Amino acid sequence: MSGLAVARHAKAGFDIRAEGLQGAGHPKLLVYASTETHGWIRKAAELLGLGDEAIRRIPVDSAYRTDLRQLASAIAEDRRAGLRPFCIIATAGTVNTGAIDDLESMASLAEREELWFHVDGAFGALVSLSPVLRPLVSGMERADSIAFDLHKWMYLPFEVACTLVRDSRVRRETFVQSPSYLAGESRGLMAGGLPFAERGIELTRGFKALKVWMSVKTHGIPALARLIEQNVRQARYLGEMVAAHPDLELLTPVSLSIVCFRYAPEAVAEHQLDALNRELLIRIQESGIAVPSSTRLGGRYALRVAITNHRSRIEDFEDLVDAVLRLGAAVRET
Ligand SMILES: *Cc1c(COP(=O)(O)O)cnc(C)c1O
Repeated sequence: MSGLAVARHAKAGFDIRAEGLQGAGHPKLLVYASTETHGWIRKAAELLGLGDEAIRRIPVDSAYRTDLRQLASAIAEDRRAGLRPFCIIATAGTVNTGAIDDLESMASLAEREELWFHVDGAFGALVSLSPVLRPLVSGMERADSIAFDLHKWMYLPFEVACTLVRDSRVRRETFVQSPSYLAGESRGLMAGGLPFAERGIELTRGFKALKVWMSVKTHGIPALARLIEQNVRQARYLGEMVAAHPDLELLTPVSLSIVCFRYAPEAVAEHQLDALNRELLIRIQESGIAVPSSTRLGGRYALRVAITNHRSRIEDFEDLVDAVLRLGAAVRET
């Protein structure tokens, strides 16, 4: 929401802080995001007064990445219709499958089109801590703004998220106010400090950064990077086990640390698989062995394993596969 607010301020082409979106005579503002973009985009567009219809939802390719040709043609078409594109959203690690958009190409397109480029790196941005994995998110550094969560891949307790904006001047312009009760002084209580209220939505805010600083100081970045690499290895291992088993079906290529699959023995008809896997998921959760979640991919119900736990061990995933097969067979019998 902070990133989109700055984007809107920077690219609206009129004084959005003064006029809001109710001023007459301005073209409709549009933001481009793939159909796999997390639901935050809708909440942000609604709360910023843009409305859900301001979101152009671009289809994805077979690997669940934004389809670049359709993105470019949607922008061109909207411009021809007299509308005003202002922002492209890319995702580094989608919530459903961990897919990473082609960030380099999307950055170049945003540059050519003079649009704001925001990267949702809530889940995936932190792979950049690992020198081995960093190339996966190349292009992210070209974003105008990035949002990422430290309660996912930095293993911190809920919740602590961060938005970075390249241009600190335009960020401040979006949010700054100068009420007399907050006037700064060169000495005394109101001296010094970083005026965070000029950088986002909140005025009074908790010191969430403390736990991030403590974690980095205690463990060091290399240790965190090794844990992220470990989660990625575990996901690949689980993906390989699933792909190798005749009764299991991998539903997307494994990206980052998300594995989507289903229990699909040949003898079970396609139209029965959704119900079978839904019941299976609940039984796995109730068994206490593991807590996968679910999603739908291409209309199919998927078991979704998202690995962002520093205590997961490789054997846990062997136990999970055993449980899926054992409980899956039990569901079939009922
Ligand atoms: C988790 C997630 C979000 C939402 O983040 P919250 O911190 O839960 O608000 C947004 N985008 C992606 C890709 C995510 O994985």
